[in-house]
Amino acid sequence: MLSDNEINKLKQLLNQRKNIVITSHTNPDGDAIGSSLAMYHYLTKLGNNVEMMVPNSFPEYYNWLPDSEKIILYNKQSKNAQKILKEADIIFSLDYNALNRLGALSEIIKGTEALRILIDHHVDPEIENFDFCFSTVDTSSTGELVYNFITQLGDEKLIDKKTGEAIYTGIVTDTGSFSFSCNRPETYIITSKIIGLGVDAQKIHKLIYDTFSENRLRLLGYSISKRMIVWEDLHTALIYLTKSDLIEYNYKVGDTEGVVNYPLSMEKINMSVLITEKDNQLRLSFRSKGDFSVNDLTREYFNGGGHKNAAGGKTNEDINSFITRLKEVLQGYKHELNYKISL
Ligand code: 5GP
Ligand code: MN
Repeated sequence: MLSDNEINKLKQLLNQRKNIVITSHTNPDGDAIGSSLAMYHYLTKLGNNVEMMVPNSFPEYYNWLPDSEKIILYNKQSKNAQKILKEADIIFSLDYNALNRLGALSEIIKGTEALRILIDHHVDPEIENFDFCFSTVDTSSTGELVYNFITQLGDEKLIDKKTGEAIYTGIVTDTGSFSFSCNRPETYIITSKIIGLGVDAQKIHKLIYDTFSENRLRLLGYSISKRMIVWEDLHTALIYLTKSDLIEYNYKVGDTEGVVNYPLSMEKINMSVLITEKDNQLRLSFRSKGDFSVNDLTREYFNGGGHKNAAGGKTNEDINSFITRLKEVLQGYKHELNYKISL
């Protein structure tokens, strides 16, 4: 909740035709894109001059979102982005808790005088780096937080269908279509209000999840049948994809999204890890079900973080060394990983 004092200050700030830049994290997902667009629609309606910026490209299956083509990719337009940031009065940070989640863009932001506003739902936000923090960890998504932010500023009436579609995209993708991070009634109350605006939840689901290319579906099949290792005693499964696997299946941004969830559909598996060889590094994706915290694990051992049941990380090791180290690390969590979900 924002305090009355914060609400008054924010209302003043956001109603003065400011230059505002909305930023979100590297490898943007549905919540990064959805929450950015929702905030963009709102701030534009208030009369501000608003730009959106992310460090690198996002999956094509979010291109149907109105105004998504206006999102500036820093790795493709860095000069233009730097100019825009220099002139910014306010920078919004959506769906990330630490400036280093922006890669090269973080240094540029640190060098500006702009006021910084954080809206996020990750654990342990870097509050010292922001002037305003609107951050909770139990909220489904930053999309949901953007809805709350606008409502708390007394502007619920400004949430139109287009804004609702963007918020819904954040909620549906960050809850795995309402299968995790979705135990709070508020998420459904907001969703219900958004659907009331005419947002077509069924169509949005199809636009995001039923738009695979043939290559993407075959890559998923290959990942599970040829690249999955199961460590039964550790209740863990991992999938690894090499650079040449990705080339063979003509990998496009977003094609490995969701792959990490499949091993969790096995009853005996409580944690799943996806390793992809990208940009001369290993990208790591961790998921768990139940109480095991992959946020704690990735923070401690794998240069990452995220949420209790979904986190990411990275390493410069090669695939074999990483797998060996992962197995060693997990030996220390054998007991924590051994549980059965029950009501
Ligand atoms: P994914 O596995 O889908 O890339 O990410 C899962 C969650 O972990 C997301 O909420 C994402 O923001 C977070 N995350 C992914 N990679 C990193 C990382 O390198 N550092 C931190 N702190 N969080 C990450
Ligand atoms: Mn999110």
